[in-house]
Amino acid sequence: MGTALTLTAIQAATTEAHRAFQGVTDGQNADYIPVLAKVDPSRFGIVVMLADGKAAEAGDTRSLFAIESISKVFTLARALDTVGADGVRQKIGDNPTGESFSSVHALVVHGGKPLNPFVNAGAIATVSLLAADSAAHRWEQILGTQRAFAGRDLEVMDEVYRSESATNQHNRALAWLLDSAHTLYSDPTEATDVYTRQCSVGITTWDLAVMGATLAAGGINPVTRQRAIRAEHVPRILAEMTMSGLYDNTGTWQYEVGLPGKSGVGGGILAVVPGRLAIATFSPPLDRFGNSVRGQLASRQLSAVLGLNLFAT
Ligand code: GLU
Repeated sequence: MGTALTLTAIQAATTEAHRAFQGVTDGQNADYIPVLAKVDPSRFGIVVMLADGKAAEAGDTRSLFAIESISKVFTLARALDTVGADGVRQKIGDNPTGESFSSVHALVVHGGKPLNPFVNAGAIATVSLLAADSAAHRWEQILGTQRAFAGRDLEVMDEVYRSESATNQHNRALAWLLDSAHTLYSDPTEATDVYTRQCSVGITTWDLAVMGATLAAGGINPVTRQRAIRAEHVPRILAEMTMSGLYDNTGTWQYEVGLPGKSGVGGGILAVVPGRLAIATFSPPLDRFGNSVRGQLASRQLSAVLGLNLFAT
């Protein structure tokens, strides 16, 4: 679909989206993880990267922020490569829960099956699905996958990890509920800790764009030219992003943007146009659903101006 876009046109649209929404002050930083409340809310970066690695950027694209829920995409990638699509569907599920991302109720009414790898219960269960003989081995695989997608040695932001570890009682409770329903496949404390680490990895908007461009390119990182995931799994990941990537606001996002997307409470949003490009945005203030306000506005405008909506004919 779509006509070929020039990098000049993409850069102009990116610069304009940054200019148009820089002054928006709606939304609030996440504060249930205390360290996230301290991030400068004026930070705002946009990178649009083509599947061949050429990119346009505007604003603050090179400073670190916590990947948070966007990490769920890459742990899902690893789980698909480990246990296959049928294993993931059978043990986690592939449908939206219709409830908030940390809902206990959703877990209880579905007999302990999380239904979806992007809610916290499903993401912790996805961590537990990886074949590992120790916490270190489990973590190596997750960090290794994030690094393969980003094309550089990403690291945990220690302050974020400490802050999340001190306040993740709810996620620990979800892990124990999964365990009690026999839908967790490793030790609950270990799975929650590794999950907390994966959410605490620091990325830049540029890194996020490379990670997305790797999905857009069918699993081959355009910077390193290395394969990060088997090609057959990419459409499955994009399907999950399409259905539940923006929490309970995913329907509105699809209505307005029309692309697979994934947000995180650190303020990042990734959108992917399969075969073509990725849009990465970063701006900390979130709406009531937990999605970056400026990130959604910029993604919507870029999708419209560049004609990227996958549902448009
Ligand atoms: N680490 C966060 C949590 O588990 C991630 C949530 C998010 O980005 O949605 O609550």
